[in-house]
Amino acid sequence: MSRRTGSLAVQRLQCRHCGAELPVMGRSIVFRCATCRRLWAASGERLRPVRVDRAVIELTDPPDYAPGDIIHLPFWVAEIDLPRFESDVSKIMKSLRAAQARLAEASLTPDDREPDPLTELGLNLIGIESPPSGSQRIVPGAAIALPPSAELDFFLRTMTETGILRVFVPAFDSPGEQVRLSIGRLMTHRRPELRTEPSDGAGRTAVPVIQAAEALVLARYVFFSTFPASMDSCAGLIDRLEVRYAAEPLLVELPFVPHGAEIESLVGGFHIPARTLGALIEETASG
Ligand SMILES: [Zn+2]
Repeated sequence: MSRRTGSLAVQRLQCRHCGAELPVMGRSIVFRCATCRRLWAASGERLRPVRVDRAVIELTDPPDYAPGDIIHLPFWVAEIDLPRFESDVSKIMKSLRAAQARLAEASLTPDDREPDPLTELGLNLIGIESPPSGSQRIVPGAAIALPPSAELDFFLRTMTETGILRVFVPAFDSPGEQVRLSIGRLMTHRRPELRTEPSDGAGRTAVPVIQAAEALVLARYVFFSTFPASMDSCAGLIDRLEVRYAAEPLLVELPFVPHGAEIESLVGGFHIPARTLGALIEETASG
């Protein structure tokens, strides 16, 4: 190892704003300055500022919790391009239905069996004409399973009626990817209203451990997991559906409050087990 490489390895990270030394923690790819609370991401040999917003919440009067109890957890928030989504789904379903119709047609197989003279005679005797030879019979089981049209229409209607659909991907450290996906699914499914302002980094926070590109890969799974089963299990649709976003994903801190063994999400109004975040809080909680 050259001396230069060696000296780079032990180089200290300093806040570009106030010069304070930045703490390096675990898997974190982002560093929060303990002095001025700004976030920095390592980018090559430089540090670049990380934009983080924070959800604005209405406090109840009297508040159900002390503001100091709130843990601000970062999520990547990606807004789905809804008009495009609706038109993509419609196009794919149209082509799947056409394929299904062609398949049904191809499975109408000619009946080549020789007419049985005795059956013919019997049918004629009771006044039924025998079917013309080469007539078509439908072979069952040859169809593609598609979501029922009514269900699909209802889904698209409810999805598009509020105008904005956001997918939430937890950016904080979690015990595993499944936990990340489950929390993301819960938040996305609730479709919470979201008002944000730039975060000042105050209070108990967690630094993000995943980047925007990784978050977008996970966002696809989170988004599909909120689909009705008939759609999510339709491989012809899911495999072809490209999820497009209305803008770059944003990093937003959402407020959570611990209650014993559970943690309540103040945005979305659901509870998750506290152990889901155990490792994270120890690692990143700060005044
Ligand atoms: Zn600083």
